[in-house]
Amino acid sequence: MPLLQVEHLRAYYRTQVYGISRSVRAVDDVSLELFENEIYGIAGESSCGKTTLIKVISGTVKPPLRIESGHVLYDFGAFQVDMTKIDPEELRQTVRWKEISYVMQGSMSVLNPVRKIIRTFEDIVRTHQGIPNKKFFLEQTRDHVMRLGLPPDVLNLYPHQLSGGMRQRVAIALATIFQPRLIIADEPTTALDVVVQRGVLQMLKEIQAESGNTVLLVTHDLAVHANVADRVGIMYAGRIVEEAPTQVIFTAPRHPYTQHLIRSLPMIGDKSVKESLSGAPPNLANPPSGCRFHPRCPLAIDRCRTETPAMVHLSHQHRVACHLVTEGVE
Ligand code: SF4
Repeated sequence: MPLLQVEHLRAYYRTQVYGISRSVRAVDDVSLELFENEIYGIAGESSCGKTTLIKVISGTVKPPLRIESGHVLYDFGAFQVDMTKIDPEELRQTVRWKEISYVMQGSMSVLNPVRKIIRTFEDIVRTHQGIPNKKFFLEQTRDHVMRLGLPPDVLNLYPHQLSGGMRQRVAIALATIFQPRLIIADEPTTALDVVVQRGVLQMLKEIQAESGNTVLLVTHDLAVHANVADRVGIMYAGRIVEEAPTQVIFTAPRHPYTQHLIRSLPMIGDKSVKESLSGAPPNLANPPSGCRFHPRCPLAIDRCRTETPAMVHLSHQHRVACHLVTEGVE
């Protein structure tokens, strides 16, 4: 059984400006499954709907974002939850931090700048579990940060006394304090230099390998997915267009958009000029008809302009949404 099943999810931003209603279809008919003990990567360029998708998956939907249809079903073993229907108080008490935690882009959003790191740990543990024994809490927290390779002294520092990389590692330590079943990491290495980035990714990988939980890693950086993810879903204009094990995505992509992303990656020793895609990602308030990639796709055929390609399975773990693939004329 999957830990998470997302079924035909649609989540739109609905706004009204000067009496004119507008819907931005940020997530439009997305289905995916996450299993225990895997790192699943979501890739795609900016504004493709990645962050909106994880807002729904993590239960942090706020207006003007609205869930239009679909289900987000979790099976935590002892209990099941549909994130599209859960009561906010139940979500806070039983799911957030304990079963699902969220490492946000930019660690300062979780660390209180005027409180020492240990106080932030204390706030979270007190809110979600209580602290009947302060000495035990301090010992447990110290053990936890040391197990993750952090010096225990960080607990007595303020966020501004830490480097960006160390702050992000502290954010990961906070997110894993209750050993959650799912860790959602949204661009966790953005704005870090490559050496620090490597350390943060290594930490995430080690935590996942040691505790066997699931990590949903969202980043536009394909090199990060290549290093860390077991499976990757490629998003374009609010939809997943291809999903496969990481090695298949990088060695045998089938969707023209995925093929373009892989071709444009810099390779050691490759001096060829990289070609960019013509055009820009579509406006999701008024997306193109048919395949949303058709205005930029060099292989588009007539059918692509009118008919939305269905997602088809090419193998057990490889699925793709492209008319050329289904017609066998790639
Ligand atoms: Fe290109 Fe058509 Fe495939 Fe879309 S369905 S990716 S437009 S070939």
